Amino acid sequence: MQCPVCAREAQNLTPHTLDGVVVGCETCGAYRVAGGAYHGLMQLDLHARVAALETAKVAARYGWPLIDGSCVRAR
Ligand SMILES: [Zn+2]
Repeated sequence: MQCPVCAREAQNLTPHTLDGVVVGCETCGAYRVAGGAYHGLMQLDLHARVAALETAKVAARYGWPLIDGSCVRAR
């Protein structure tokens, strides 16, 4: 798959049970995008997508950072 943040080649790590997608990217690391935030994320430009991921990384205390609606709307 293509990384939703940096558009480079990335792995889709999503378990079947999960809502949204889990991306494994060499550049961005592993992170989740909530199902409801994916479309909004794709509307942002590259700088804003990277910023949304940074927001998610700061908020993540454990596990994968999650890009959700609040990360996307904060831009
Ligand atoms: Zn990436």
